[in-house]
Amino acid sequence: MASEIRNPQLWQDGRLKIDWVRHHMPLLNSLEEEFRTTLPFKGLKVALSVHLEAKTAYLCEVLAAGGAEMYVTGSNPLSTQDDVAAALVHAGLNVFAWYDATPEEYEAHIIEKRCPAGVCKALMRYEIIADKCKGCTLCAKKCPVGAISGSIKTPHVIDAAKCIKCGACAAACRFGAVLQ
Ligand code: SF4
Ligand code: SF4
Repeated sequence: MASEIRNPQLWQDGRLKIDWVRHHMPLLNSLEEEFRTTLPFKGLKVALSVHLEAKTAYLCEVLAAGGAEMYVTGSNPLSTQDDVAAALVHAGLNVFAWYDATPEEYEAHIIEKRCPAGVCKALMRYEIIADKCKGCTLCAKKCPVGAISGSIKTPHVIDAAKCIKCGACAAACRFGAVLQ
């Protein structure tokens, strides 16, 4: 996934800021060191919406050091620092934010598929836990795209290729059998 930032060439300025923060946050330093060894987030994708400046950028890097695949966006266009965003991208993180984004641009970074929130949706999976499913068929009746199959009183199954992740099945199930 390609990042969307204002100017990748600003990365060295951002790196100076993040490294300054790194020198002043001993607790995060120790976590970073530990995470590099233990990799507690290996295999996980982590999406953050934050005031994108040096302190939060360092937090993102600490999570990345722990093995997380990071997706970052701003939480306010006026607090996003373009050089810091560039430094994160240069370090291999995925960033979707720039300073002074228009409302439309900001919304796109937050909501559309290319943004971290969209990434969350892309990663989301609905599954039916066979042990919990009573085969009541409610979920299948509610599914707008016919993604759920199964006979009455037998465990139902969601076809991930058809599922549009609307959540109707989870809302309909009275037995907590739909896992999101
Ligand atoms: S609504 Fe729940 S219990 Fe009923 S078929 Fe669907 S997953 Fe199974
Ligand atoms: S999340 Fe929506 S589309 Fe996907 S299986 Fe459930 S009801 Fe169907």
